[in-house]
Amino acid sequence: MFYHSKELQYKARVSKPDPRFARLLLEQFGGGNGELKAAMQYFVQAFACHNPYPDKYDMLMDIATEELGHLEIVGATIQMLLAGVNGNLKDAAESNDVFGEKNFSKEDFIHAAFSVNPQFGTVTGGGPCLTDSNGVPWQGSYVNANGDLTVDLRSNIAAESRAKIVYEYLMQFTDDPYVLDTLNFLLTREVAHFQQFEAALDTIQPNFPPGVLQSDPRYSNLYSNHSLGEDARGPWNEGRSPGLDEEWQYIEDPRRQVLETEGLTRCKPQGTERTEASVRSADKKLSKERSREVRRATPESNIEWCDYADSDGRKKRSAGTPRRQPVEQE
Ligand code: MN
Ligand code: MN
Repeated sequence: MFYHSKELQYKARVSKPDPRFARLLLEQFGGGNGELKAAMQYFVQAFACHNPYPDKYDMLMDIATEELGHLEIVGATIQMLLAGVNGNLKDAAESNDVFGEKNFSKEDFIHAAFSVNPQFGTVTGGGPCLTDSNGVPWQGSYVNANGDLTVDLRSNIAAESRAKIVYEYLMQFTDDPYVLDTLNFLLTREVAHFQQFEAALDTIQPNFPPGVLQSDPRYSNLYSNHSLGEDARGPWNEGRSPGLDEEWQYIEDPRRQVLETEGLTRCKPQGTERTEASVRSADKKLSKERSREVRRATPESNIEWCDYADSDGRKKRSAGTPRRQPVEQE
């Protein structure tokens, strides 16, 4: 369950209303890289970890909840940037200065509000809404959760990178020192989360390739040159590959290779110590290990989600909740 505390995580302030920046900041409220997306992504991912990986469950729920706090800071900032709009809109009978500026008539306001974001005038009455800065509604498809931590944590590292750069871009569009201060805080927290996800990924070994299956050594180190003209070379196509430590095979003419190998079916592994047999055995071993971790932690009947403490504060085990045991080594 959740509690709400009335204090913001960070002291958000604005110097003066600025509906134009309020609209831009919607990007981090209801946009594809915004705080609600982050909160929902980590929240949804957490369910699959609850039993098998309680340490990652704890981290995902902590960060998801912190992101909700960021959503609150962004919403509060948008509301402050639109200060006065709602009250003045309510004064429906009179022409008045909605943005609190002298000689700013209701007509001027209607023009200003609509040119900035029609929904501030017609829908939200001068508050945040769950859209991006272009008015595109927030959607659940922004959320990536694939039930595998080696995949999900990488999605999160990417999500934090995007959240960070959007704050960085946004900072170019305001000179309000209070707003800049808040954005600096939010951006910094994304950098912290990036590292937390990276550290968590590192505790899972092996974690490459993402998922379970090890990938086919016939194709894992091919670099396929699909462009004409001068070719760029770098560690992505020469030397050893960073994940599997195989020698990159540069395929100068992919079409010729495809013709010669009957659509790569007669391709032999080169520049790698991995063989089809070694891959099959690694696949088997890791499949067993990963499925055992999850199965062991998942009861098949009398399934309950959590324990409740006795009145004296001691934890009590429910019948359907399995005890955590160290994972057996083969
Ligand atoms: Mn955040
Ligand atoms: Mn974050």
